[in-house]
Amino acid sequence: MKYKILAADDSNICLKVIKEIFNLVGDNYELIFAHDGKEAVEKAIEQLPDLILMDIIMPEMNGVRAIKELRNNRITGDIPIIVLSATESLESAFEAGANDFITKPFKHYELLMRARQALSMVEKINTIKSQRDLIAQQKKDIIDDIRYSKRIQSAILPTHEKIKNHIKDYFLLDLPKNIVSGDFYWVGSKGGKTVIAVADCTGHGISGAFMTMAGTAYLNEIVNKYEFEHASDILFHLRNHVINLLQQKGEEGETTDGMDIALLLIDEASGQVQYAGANNPVYLVKNNEIAEYKADRMPIGIHIHFNKPFTDQVLDISPGDILYMFTDGYADQFGGPQGKKFRYKNFRELLINIHQKPFADQQQILDQTMKVWKGKEEQVDDILVMGIKF
Ligand SMILES: [Mg+2]
Repeated sequence: MKYKILAADDSNICLKVIKEIFNLVGDNYELIFAHDGKEAVEKAIEQLPDLILMDIIMPEMNGVRAIKELRNNRITGDIPIIVLSATESLESAFEAGANDFITKPFKHYELLMRARQALSMVEKINTIKSQRDLIAQQKKDIIDDIRYSKRIQSAILPTHEKIKNHIKDYFLLDLPKNIVSGDFYWVGSKGGKTVIAVADCTGHGISGAFMTMAGTAYLNEIVNKYEFEHASDILFHLRNHVINLLQQKGEEGETTDGMDIALLLIDEASGQVQYAGANNPVYLVKNNEIAEYKADRMPIGIHIHFNKPFTDQVLDISPGDILYMFTDGYADQFGGPQGKKFRYKNFRELLINIHQKPFADQQQILDQTMKVWKGKEEQVDDILVMGIKF
């Protein structure tokens, strides 16, 4: 690599000496000359040297002013400057931003060594900068890729029109931690029965999103192909599919990946609503009171009880009641004055307080409350809350 060195000095003799010194050590250096501070600034901006050697006492513009101007310019601000001076103005040169100095008269190896030292620093900085740029580019590529994945993930979620076909009124608060989500919702129907599910897959980001694709595809398949009377039947099939997919055999050391889910089975004719849950409960608000329907303490995936059937519960629902389905992200978010979890108790209180408001308002309040609670804390998990009115 050839280095460009700008030497600024009003003495032609001095410039000649500098030229000879660098010529002696080969053609690694390209020298540019300036005879005063003004010319030095102009040439530095124009040619962007790797190193500047700057005399202090010069006509037109002295070295100190030239250094100030160079430092204040974005494109020359980082170029190392070695001051060459016989005077005592070194202090002001340093304050202006000079990096090093050599007192005149200098020995030729002294100049060479100082120049080499400065240039090796430049080389190290350039390496770091190019690594930084590479990492920034890689990060951009990864994020672009995840954003594209988000489009696919959004495309497989049930559309508003589809949900509206089955549910009179609803809202969704969907706040992924990292663009794509490990949480998903699913709505479908067959033979006068509607199925609604809210699920939380292990992990978040890309790994969680992979599982949501499988979960969605399996729910489509199960509800279309299988006969089912109970909400638990669907969870039973879903668990078998996930265990098969992940080739889980219950052996030590294998992955315990899977999902937690709350699932409703609504009989359209009778209006009966069944619920079955894998780790994820639901809340029902009626007459200003909130009731929790607890889930079975086992996941959709391998577990010591993976042969045990899930439990069905018939929800005590009257027209106007509101059911909330959710993942653990909301209650588990750290924040508040003490940096603690939001907790289910606060979540339930919030829901009771807002349950009579229109759904659009409820969604807004839940969103805003979480933003305030989270403050500067990082979001720990994907957040999904669904409200349904019967
Ligand atoms: Mg979660």
